[in-house]
Amino acid sequence: MAAARRERLLGAEEGFVLKDPGVGLNVALIFPNTYRAAMSNLGFHAVYGFINDRTDALAERAFFSGDPREDPIVDSRGRLITLESGRVLDKFHLIAFSLSFENDFPNVLSILDAAGLPLISSERTGWPMVIAGGVAAFLNPEPLAPFIDGFLLGEAEANLDPFLDIVKDAAFRGASRKETLGLLAKDVEGFYAPSGYIHRYDDRGRLTSIEPREGFPGEVAPPHPAELPEPLASRIRTPQTEFANMVLVEAGRGCPRGCRFCAAGFVYRPPRPHPWERIRDKATHETSEGDKVGLVSPAVADLENLDTLCAHLAKEGRRVSLSSLRADSLTPELARALYAGGLKSATLAPEAGTGRLRMVINKGLAEEEILAAARLLAEARVPNLKLYFMVGLPTETAEDVREIVPLVKRVLHERRKALKGRTRGLVTVSVSCFVPKPFTPFQWAGFMETARLKERLAVLRKGFRGIKGLKFTSDVPKWAYVQALLSRGDRRVGDILLSAHRSGDIKRAMSESPVNPDFFVLRERERDELFPWGIMRQGADRDFLWEEYQRGLAAQPSPGCHDPETCAACGVCE
Ligand code: SF4
Repeated sequence: MAAARRERLLGAEEGFVLKDPGVGLNVALIFPNTYRAAMSNLGFHAVYGFINDRTDALAERAFFSGDPREDPIVDSRGRLITLESGRVLDKFHLIAFSLSFENDFPNVLSILDAAGLPLISSERTGWPMVIAGGVAAFLNPEPLAPFIDGFLLGEAEANLDPFLDIVKDAAFRGASRKETLGLLAKDVEGFYAPSGYIHRYDDRGRLTSIEPREGFPGEVAPPHPAELPEPLASRIRTPQTEFANMVLVEAGRGCPRGCRFCAAGFVYRPPRPHPWERIRDKATHETSEGDKVGLVSPAVADLENLDTLCAHLAKEGRRVSLSSLRADSLTPELARALYAGGLKSATLAPEAGTGRLRMVINKGLAEEEILAAARLLAEARVPNLKLYFMVGLPTETAEDVREIVPLVKRVLHERRKALKGRTRGLVTVSVSCFVPKPFTPFQWAGFMETARLKERLAVLRKGFRGIKGLKFTSDVPKWAYVQALLSRGDRRVGDILLSAHRSGDIKRAMSESPVNPDFFVLRERERDELFPWGIMRQGADRDFLWEEYQRGLAAQPSPGCHDPETCAACGVCE
């Protein structure tokens, strides 16, 4: 079964790399979620490519979602194996987790177990070394601190090669893991070894200090290079992704807008769009006529000359899709270019139902802009529309939530007018529960109680019931609660993960935990409180983020990023 699945997946792929293990450093690159989710992730493709581009290293992939509907790729003894060569994980020098979502953290324990390795880092001796990276890690690695030997934080272009050089040298001269971790912490920017730090708490359970042990730096600065090398692009093509047979090409990193809930907008500062010509060259180099190109960036719609780029790629016979759209950046030309590029479903993110709450989150979108964008897309004959909203935002009232329904009804009305009374395609309203994220202005805010979230979602479900051509989907508050625990908790949350892994029941693990999870999830943090992610220095200054939090609570808008050459507002470009 697993062997057949492995062959089937490899058989449908173009671009995977199979090297002789004797080339040098062997890395098992693991995505703790489904194959489909992994192959839809440009960051995972990039790291796979960076390692395999080296002549002295190889990377092979493995996946585990814990989802009973997806059979893990295991050997006859049930041990997780890699896709490329079918080898078990403890045959590699390095087991490297790529972490994009907090809710994948529990799978890390299942994977270590399936590899036959002790779960707790301090109980493992010798090699392989177990490391992790990815955006979920460099927002807050602490819940996984007891299980991971070291975290490679920040953007891989800046620190992956020096990291691999040291690990390869250490592995081949038989250095101990302890010595290797010390070397990496000393010499690799953004490398964080949790065992090198002692956490202390006060009698109310608040973290009061993070003390480095001898030889470990007082703080860790995940690197975010000011200049990006060439745009990233998919390394492997397969029909089994969210973007079937589409080649993903990075359009830029970061976003200039400053939405106060958005981690990508703050942790990837300063915003670094690629010049359109460079994206054009990468896209045409990686694809052929008839192929589909997916332009990926949190701010792709803000890209200068996006119309020109789309028109150029269309002239070269490529179809174009965008990872995100902003209502206030959409033009008739862009809407038409997207339709011509085969776009079947566009996504707009009003996030909140009232202008006041959109000011609180600094979304900076007027209702008229949302309606105009919906009209433009309908006029350009893009059939389906997805609308993203959140519930549980700071200062949100029940009225704010109720206002989502009439706003969506006004969008439907605009579409019907543009379609001359015909209802065409599907409008999907997708509502998620707001989870406060590290390194954003809302990092101090608490998560809303699940009972209130359920009430608010019920109001929306009732408000949208029976509307023709509309589908309503929403988060499950209890899983958003777990996401908030893994996003805001410190290394004591590791005990909950361990107990949940052993009992198979996260709810029981949370209720039996000596530290009440509400302490991490629901509690608003104090102005000067030490955050679990306090060992890291990245993104905007803390004072700037606090100021932005206060402006948010007062529903005051703030300008986004200006010119990195001249601006020092948030402290990143000083
Ligand atoms: S200093 Fe200014 S331009 Fe630079 S990231 Fe901060 S707000 Fe943006």
